[in-house]
Amino acid sequence: MSIKLSIVIPCYNESEVFPETSRRLLALLDHLQTQALITEDSSLYFVDDGSEDNTWQLIQKLAENSSHVHGIKLSRNRGHQNALLAGLFCAEGDVLVSIDADLQDDISVIENMLIKHREGVDIVYGVRSARDTDTAFKRGTAETYYRLLELMGVDIVYNHADYRLLSRRALTALGDFNEVNLFLRGIIPLLGFRSATVEYERHERFAGESKYPLRKMLALAADGITSFSVTPLRLITALGFSVCLFSVVMALWIVLGKLLTDSIVPGWASSVVPIYFLGGVQLLSIGVLGEYVAKIYLETKRRPRYIIERII
Ligand code: UDP
Ligand code: MG
Repeated sequence: MSIKLSIVIPCYNESEVFPETSRRLLALLDHLQTQALITEDSSLYFVDDGSEDNTWQLIQKLAENSSHVHGIKLSRNRGHQNALLAGLFCAEGDVLVSIDADLQDDISVIENMLIKHREGVDIVYGVRSARDTDTAFKRGTAETYYRLLELMGVDIVYNHADYRLLSRRALTALGDFNEVNLFLRGIIPLLGFRSATVEYERHERFAGESKYPLRKMLALAADGITSFSVTPLRLITALGFSVCLFSVVMALWIVLGKLLTDSIVPGWASSVVPIYFLGGVQLLSIGVLGEYVAKIYLETKRRPRYIIERII
């Protein structure tokens, strides 16, 4: 009744954490095997996302010494989401678990994930029970972001990052989503199937620095919104409508003032302020439209999400 498990780990400049991460994950595979939850040929897939340090050399060396370790080398840095996809689509297991290389996510809950899968669940989300170890800034922005997505009608699992279990058939379904810019957290709930969550406490990165600087975080955040929601476009329409209504009311008010009193001062404020205000609103709206046009542009090119240089 045991199944073949593949654990996919994207790595970008992770030479500091790699030795410890691989040691712990191999120990976990051993443990799960003795529990008869997974088969002998279950394995780890480390995806090197174009690292500039010696991460690939470390992966290569370990793969030579252990039959449970595979390496996938991307031809250049393509970002976390693409590295993850490369790993998922190359891995051969019946069940796939994705996890970050820094092991901030508690690996011991993989056992619970497998047990849920046994009960017939196709997707198991790892959900953080607390965010104590993140900085207040990261916590605040992340929470606001989840709320914002929810407001815009995006179906998303709260406090879930990319730590999850997928069954083979869920992954096959994911393969049918042909978008080039995949925001996995938004797509997976769209797959349907029975799903469940397991909770864990998130630890601190035990070595190295975050590979998600603010710039990449903002890019991922914007992608998440423009890939799943047209609410910003509707807001522009609503805004334009309100501004029009407001200007009509203002015009009426001026006409009435002129007719009923003599006290209308010919001021420049009333003409200059609206010019700046409307200029700002228009530029902002064009910017939002541009975001969606850019997305169409990028999608129509249908460029590959990643290019694999080597698999071992
Ligand atoms: N990562 C990647 N490519 C990138 C950036 C990050 O494959 O361009 C990987 C990284 O090696 C790690 C995971 O994505 O395994 C999450 O990154 P990190 O832990 O730095 O993000 P944080 O936990 O700070 O959000
Ligand atoms: Mg991390």
